[in-house]
Amino acid sequence: ATPAATMVGTAIGARNGVLFEGGDILERVRDVDAVVFDKTGTLTEGEMELTDVVALPATDGGRVDGDVAADGGALAEPEATEEFVLEVAASAESASEHPLAEAIVEGARERGINVENPEDFENVPGHGVKATTSHGRVLVGNRKLLREEGVDVDPAAEAMDRLEREGKTAMLVALADEGRDEYRLLGVVADADTVKPSARDAVAALRERGVDVWMITGDNERTATAVAEEVGIDPDNVMASVLPEDKAEAVEDIQSDGRRAMMVGDGVNDAPALATAFVGCAIGSGTDVAIEASDVTLMRDDPLDVLKAIRVSEGTLSKIK
Ligand code: ADP
Ligand code: MG
Repeated sequence: ATPAATMVGTAIGARNGVLFEGGDILERVRDVDAVVFDKTGTLTEGEMELTDVVALPATDGGRVDGDVAADGGALAEPEATEEFVLEVAASAESASEHPLAEAIVEGARERGINVENPEDFENVPGHGVKATTSHGRVLVGNRKLLREEGVDVDPAAEAMDRLEREGKTAMLVALADEGRDEYRLLGVVADADTVKPSARDAVAALRERGVDVWMITGDNERTATAVAEEVGIDPDNVMASVLPEDKAEAVEDIQSDGRRAMMVGDGVNDAPALATAFVGCAIGSGTDVAIEASDVTLMRDDPLDVLKAIRVSEGTLSKIK
């Protein structure tokens, strides 16, 4: 393109909230034949809300209900009511800044539950949290986190599957009561995010142009597939349970057969993937890190602006609109 055409394109882009990092990027975008969306905050609003709390029945032969301690008094274990499950989970999560954690804490406060600060806290990226609260040691996270701590997650299978099929992120809650080594599975909490209103249209428009549309997420397969279905992405094009540090590699995989992928993401986790993609595209109120790693920045939070970027690059988005 001539310098004049590049200037015009850049200006039209800017007017439409599409910022190109330079003239060569502006030209490169038209060659994109695959778009990889990060799920959370990109296809979805990224505003989690606590939707479900499930208290599981005691799995240790009724120890909670029936047993009495050696001194004849009731064991100091509270029965796992939903309130208790939420209190334990929120107290552990109150030290985390993860959107999943913030939704749990806010949901607990809204329900009038007392949320305490944990005495000790460890964030396990891509898995969940480990914390010590006044109730004992707590785990909140995915199946992998609990399995690695030797917790049998089978009693929660039905609740987890049901919530995940609804597209929610379900998290297991386990407690090792004060003075005990073994964790017991208390229940499940679930957060939900809403799909952006234009996500479905954006996917449809891209597919109509012959662009291969993918989704990458740290979320589990079932939740990811439910969201993919909602926005019209082929389940075969969903890469789920991808750890933050593996997102770049996932983009490389997609590009391995010569595809030229545009990675669209908003999060800190996405920076390496944005840098790896043929075109990295930061969306919305994206973090500074994401914007720095990207070639294109979409100022609005609208996935349809991916189409605008392509049309500006092709010179098919006119000045007057
Ligand atoms: P995403 O790609 O959606 O940002 P992450 O990579 O941050 O997801 O986390 C992947 C999964 O690990 C989550 O879906 C959740 O199951 C679990 N997880 C991560 N952080 C937490 C947390 N603070 N509390 C509970 N579970 C968590
Ligand atoms: Mg994320």
